[in-house]
Amino acid sequence: MYRPARAVIDTAAFVSNYRHAKSLAANSRAVAVIKANGYGHGAVRLARALQMEADAFGVACIEEALELRESGIQNPILLLEGIFGPDELELVDKLDFGMTIHNRRQLEWIENARPARPFNVWLKLDSGMHRLGFSSEDFAQAFARLKACPHVEDIVLMSHFARADETGEDATLTQLERFKQASANLQKPVSLANSSAILHWPQTHGDWVRPGIMLYGATPLDRPGEESTALKPVMQLQSEIIAVRELGPGEAVGYGARFVCDKPTRIGVVAMGYADGYPRHARDGTPVAVDDKKTRLIGRVSMDMLTVDLSDIPDAAPGSQVELWGDHIAANEVASHSDTIAYQLFTGITRRVPLLYR
Ligand SMILES: *Cc1c(COP(=O)(O)O)cnc(C)c1O
Repeated sequence: MYRPARAVIDTAAFVSNYRHAKSLAANSRAVAVIKANGYGHGAVRLARALQMEADAFGVACIEEALELRESGIQNPILLLEGIFGPDELELVDKLDFGMTIHNRRQLEWIENARPARPFNVWLKLDSGMHRLGFSSEDFAQAFARLKACPHVEDIVLMSHFARADETGEDATLTQLERFKQASANLQKPVSLANSSAILHWPQTHGDWVRPGIMLYGATPLDRPGEESTALKPVMQLQSEIIAVRELGPGEAVGYGARFVCDKPTRIGVVAMGYADGYPRHARDGTPVAVDDKKTRLIGRVSMDMLTVDLSDIPDAAPGSQVELWGDHIAANEVASHSDTIAYQLFTGITRRVPLLYR
């Protein structure tokens, strides 16, 4: 490895965060959501680290499920959006994937299949997010059809929250109420809670929780409390200072001269840019750590580099270690300075950045 940009992945922190999720939802089983290559952290490596204790893994699609099975992962795997066409059912059967059913088309494909062993399906209600799922009116009928299907064995009833991250907003309770009404007589295990709901809405936990972002050490809550402090960052996005500049008042740094010095300023150039996945929209003042000391981004982020203020870190020099997010700088802080969320930062890390496991 030559260029110093790298993402160091702490699989022990991932395991610890999973245990924390399980401790918050002590009576639930947990689907560890590792879609999108484990939110950019490397799904196979994370699955290996957790395979002894994961109740199941959750992925977005069969391509992601195949990668896990082909790497020897034997835990149950759930396709969170189910299948996109009937031709997937052969692999679902052969490799024993669970699948969400959120519409009538998927239901028909399943009814018409003749698998070697029964399917495990997660029937999804649209309880208010209005993205995927059966309406309250159609839910019971879809359930009855699945029950009548000789090759459907386990059924889990599921839904997904739109606003569980908003701790002062009761939309989650409204969705919970709708779900309870629609599923009242169906007598099956239920699954509702994403990370936000695991952290903040214990009444939603049910039989299966589905932690995602919290496993990577970022809290999704708008006002994080106690329950979030135990989360450990899994990714350390790091690089090094590769050049230092002394600028005088009135001089500017970078494209568009976005930052103009108002006093003598020492600037460090870091080998990390938007082509690595660092957000181009990060504003001046976005926190960055150099040699474990907190400072700020100044000037526009370029494709391969960004610039930071070293005025208060006189010992920093080419070769100094830089953390873009990790133990010193929360990904959430960088996200809020870039008008985005930690989810997008993590999944946006590009293949130019090597993932190193420790
Ligand atoms: C991605 C996803 C999750 C995990 O959500 P987080 O907010 O990352 O915890 C849970 N359930 C479903 C259906 C998902 O698609």
